[in-house]
Amino acid sequence: MIEVKGISVDPETRCAHYHSPVDIIAIRFRCCNEYYACYYCHEECAGHAAQPWPASAYGTAAILCGKCRKETSITDYLQGKYTCPHCQAAFNPKCKNHNHLYFSEKSSQDLEQ
Ligand SMILES: [Zn+2]
Ligand SMILES: [Zn+2]
Ligand SMILES: [Zn+2]
Repeated sequence: MIEVKGISVDPETRCAHYHSPVDIIAIRFRCCNEYYACYYCHEECAGHAAQPWPASAYGTAAILCGKCRKETSITDYLQGKYTCPHCQAAFNPKCKNHNHLYFSEKSSQDLEQ
């Protein structure tokens, strides 16, 4: 079972910050390779700054569905229709407002400068 870190994380990966019925994804962070329920959970628990994924790493499985606990690549998540490709559970479409916190359009070289 993949561990999801954060504050008051429930079995479907909702947390103290996002806990509506559709808030059921967790995100792996590039900086520590750990899954957190959300950006704020990472900010409060990790003790270091979050690093967004560079576009060149979008093939990485970095999205975890809280319903079926299966991982999805960033590309499949961003190109999907906010449903889990494995179990069809609905994800929160408002998450896209925060994509810039998790995913960068820059290359990894640009991010490291
Ligand atoms: Zn981290
Ligand atoms: Zn959170
Ligand atoms: Zn699923």
